[in-house]
Formats: sequence, C-alpha cells, structure tokens
Amino acid sequence: MFDAILVGAGPSGCAAAYDLAVAGKSVLLLDRQPFPRVKPCAGALTIKTVRALRYSVDPVVRTIASGIHVTNDLDNPTELRSQHPVCLMTVRAEFDHFCLQQTIAAGAHFHLIDDVCALEEKDDHVALRSGTAEFCARFVIGADGANSKVRLLLGDQPWFRRALAIEAHAPLHKDSHPMEIDFGVVPRGYAWSFQKGDHLNVGLYTEQQGIKLTRASLAEYLKRKFQREDFDHFVGHYLGIGGVGYTPQHQRIFLVGDAAGMTDPVSGEGICNALKSGQAAAKAIIKHSDAAQVAYQANLAEIHDDLEFCERAIGKFYGHLGTAVSALRLPGIKRPLMKGYANGMTLSAIRKSIFSLPFGLGSKT
Ligand SMILES: Cc1cc2nc3c(=O)[nH]c(=O)nc-3n(C[C@H](O)[C@H](O)[C@H](O)COP(=O)(O)OP(=O)(O)OC[C@H]3O[C@@H](n4cnc5c(N)ncnc54)[C@H](O)[C@@H]3O)c2cc1C
Repeated sequence: MFDAILVGAGPSGCAAAYDLAVAGKSVLLLDRQPFPRVKPCAGALTIKTVRALRYSVDPVVRTIASGIHVTNDLDNPTELRSQHPVCLMTVRAEFDHFCLQQTIAAGAHFHLIDDVCALEEKDDHVALRSGTAEFCARFVIGADGANSKVRLLLGDQPWFRRALAIEAHAPLHKDSHPMEIDFGVVPRGYAWSFQKGDHLNVGLYTEQQGIKLTRASLAEYLKRKFQREDFDHFVGHYLGIGGVGYTPQHQRIFLVGDAAGMTDPVSGEGICNALKSGQAAAKAIIKHSDAAQVAYQANLAEIHDDLEFCERAIGKFYGHLGTAVSALRLPGIKRPLMKGYANGMTLSAIRKSIFSLPFGLGSKT
C-alpha cells in the first residue's frame, strides 16, 4: 500500500511525486516507457516554468533566449527583446530524464508497466491493475498525458479537448534567432523554430479541431522560411486542453497536467501547468488527506484563472491575427509583456499590468 501512485512520469507526475516524497509519503511512479524516452515537445521552459520547478535544471539547458522573433505568416518581423532571459531551451528526453532522477533521489519509486487496465476506488484506497500486476494506494493521480488512460477509465472527459503539434529537428540556420514564432502559418496556431545548440527544433501547433498537420505541411513551412526542407526526428502528439472545466470527481483519484487539459490553448505551453497542477494535487494530499478532493479543486484556482483568460483570448487573438501581431509592436504592450515573461508571470497576471489591451481582453467581459 503506497500513499500515492502516479500514473505517468512526465513533468506533472514527477512534480507531484517529488513533493509527496519530500513530505515523507511513500510514492510509486508508473510509466509504460523506460527513461530516457522521446516525448514530442519543443522543450521550451518559460521563466514561470523554471520558477515552478523545485530544483535547478541548468545541467539540461541547451540555450537561453532573451527575445522572441515574431512574424505574421513570415511577414512583418518583430523582435520582442528582453534584458533578461525569457525561455530556457531543453530537449525533452534530457529534461524528463533529469526530473525523474531528481524525483527518485527524493525518495519516489519508479516501475515500468504495460498499461493501466482497471481502477477501483474504495473507501480508503484505490486498486490499480496493469496487464501484469496489481497496485494499491491511498491516492492515484493520472499524469499520463493528453491520451490519458486514467481519464478514459474514469469516463471523466466532457470538458476535455485536444490540440495538436508536430515537430522535427532541422539543421542550424545562419539567420535564425534563438526563439522564433511565425503566426498565421496554420489556423489558430503557429510555427516555431527554437535553437537547441546543435540543431533547430521546428514545428507546427494548432488548437483548431480537425486540422491535419503532416510532414508535408512542416516541409512546406521550412521551405518558405529557410529555403530548405530537410529535417529528421519527425514526431507529433496531442496536447490536453479544456482543463478550465476540470473538477475532480473522485475522492481518491485525480488528474493533472495534460490528462487534466491543463495546457494553455493559445500557445500550447503545457509544462508549467503540468508542474503546478501536479504540485497542487500533492499539496492537497499532504495537507488534507481526508478532504483532498475539495483541497485539490481549491488549489487549482490560480491555474483555472489563467486558463479562463487564455480561453477568452484565443478566439480574439487568432480571429484578428494581423491586428494582434501588430499590437505586439506597441511599446505599451511589448514592454510589460516581455518584462512579465522575464519575471515569470502568467498571461493573466501580465494582462493586469497592461494599460490597454485590444478586443476587450483587459477586463473580464
Ligand atoms: C510537439 C509538441 C511541442 C510542445 N512544446 C512545448 C514547449 O515547448 N513548452 C511547453 O511548456 N509545452 C510544450 N508542449 C506541451 C507539453 O509537452 C505537455 O503539456 C507536457 O508534456 C504535459 O506534461 P504531462 O506530465 O502532463 O504529460 P506527458 O509529458 O505527456 O507525460 C505523460 C507520461 O505518461 C506516460 N503514459 C502515458 N500513458 C500511460 C499509461 N497508460 N500507463 C503508464 N504511463 C503512461 C507517458 O509515457 C509519459 O511519460 C508541447 C507538446 C507537443 C505535442
């Protein structure tokens, strides 16, 4: 009998497991892949993500971006500069392996399983069955990503939506900046190019339901951007969004990270809320084991507030893309935005520091 079982050893599972282990709880992390493993992800850690981490990840930082180069469909380039770093670039296989090592060092146990086949919530514990073994814990946390089996088994997903992103490695390009975002290349999303030291991580993100992102769409983007279309390590994955509607339905089984739809739908940034939601669930279990469900819901308030703003912003931002990207050039928007990013603020917190935002986004309407 463990105090907690985490299904999934990505950022959300490790964040929850780390806090639980440090608090002296017995913790079992289950994953169906041995680490290090490939996780489709651009591996960009914003400063708010770095602040949410319990330890330094300097050993796995490849490059540091102190500005964002932005275009609207590769036109009208804008340089959003900052005096301080706004993003640390990692490779997810390295980042996740490092975080798992820290979590095991904090006292968590790690075990490989084939899959989660059944979950049964009893009065004082949860029974979890994989294809080959059975486990018991006082709490089970589903941290198994956008295609969460735990969420599926709970049947808890009317609020859940999926976004999609594909990515690959491309050769370094002499004209590229550390962090480039090209809006307008795909509907309700963007293309990116991030420097990782020995290669560029390039990709496409969309929140638009039903859009197919393919090798061909990525090749076309690279050809337009760099006049060459060679890439390798091509992968893609769904991202979990819609988490503003997630309310824990069970006393002893919670969802965190992408499983709980915690990714920001505007940017597809998910590691920050994966860490924060994992920590929120752990805190609820540590401090309020008899009323952890209510405590976890309360602990999600700040994340929900930010996601609520992002849900309001997405249609307005992508629906008026030309105006929105041009607005990024205005000093009254650009400066607080970059200062906020460099200070580790969330989008909804930055919004409060901007005097006037277009599309009524400055106030809750
Ligand atoms: C192409 C792409 C680029 C992205 N770029 C960024 C970025 O630059 N910055 C950013 O902040 N976010 C980015 N994201 C989002 C980010 O990757 C996710 O939000 C984040 O990984 C969520 O963390 P998680 O721990 O909830 O889930 P995951 O990282 O998906 O981890 C889930 C874990 O659960 C395991 N698992 C799955 N199913 C089972 C099962 N049945 N049994 C046991 N284990 C299971 C998996 O093996 C995995 O280890 C990107 C996403 C994609 C797809």
